[in-house]
Amino acid sequence: MRHASALLAALCLCSCGASPPAPAFPDWVWESDPDLMAHGRGNRVDIEVDWVASTPPDDLALEALAQVAMRECPGRIVTVRLGTEIPDARWKASRGEAVDVLLDAVCGIRAERPGTAFIHVLYCPSNPWKKDWALNGLCRAVADPFPHWQIFVFKGVLRSRAFLSLTPAKLDRSCLIHEFGHALGLVANPEHRFEDGGGHCTDTRCVMTKPKAQAILDNAAEAIATGEIPWDYCARCRADLETARNAWRSRPR
Ligand SMILES: [Zn+2]
Ligand SMILES: [Zn+2]
Repeated sequence: MRHASALLAALCLCSCGASPPAPAFPDWVWESDPDLMAHGRGNRVDIEVDWVASTPPDDLALEALAQVAMRECPGRIVTVRLGTEIPDARWKASRGEAVDVLLDAVCGIRAERPGTAFIHVLYCPSNPWKKDWALNGLCRAVADPFPHWQIFVFKGVLRSRAFLSLTPAKLDRSCLIHEFGHALGLVANPEHRFEDGGGHCTDTRCVMTKPKAQAILDNAAEAIATGEIPWDYCARCRADLETARNAWRSRPR
């Protein structure tokens, strides 16, 4: 037995003098953020949640975010923590570039920390820049003062959309998980991505779908009957995330 394994090892050494070619991955996998997805690139995901006083986050949403982040960032320590409450008057006085100044002022993290991916979430009444675009929430990559993600949840708008048992907390959960999906790199796979460049899934039962007429129609009956709407990624989106993780794992740092 020992001889057989020694022979096998010798054969391997002979035939694999060069390292085996890395498996080919589709180009879209590299659109994901290695700081969140690459194995060995870091060991923590830190999510700070700040909020305007009249629009606090719901526990249902934050618990779902922790659950999804731990699942999709395996091997990392994930923290979802409450930060600063912003008085409504201060929010109302902040428009345009002043919103960015406010975000920097309330953010508890001042500089990049090696091995830690940082996501800054802000709950506020509505989109402070444009009233007719990104109505529910938005996600954006920020470079200054250090690279991280910002997620906005426009809680005042979500509240106005709640009805019967489709509560603001459930809308909050779907919105937060949707925006976090953009930070993870969804949806980049053209096989199930809307071709408008917005990174949304063609599966109307997926939380990454566009909040447009067809998705609302497809989910309306269940929403009315049960108060439920999709709040997690579909099987294809989850498979995409797995492919992205495998791709980063195969690439030397
Ligand atoms: Zn979106
Ligand atoms: Zn999907």
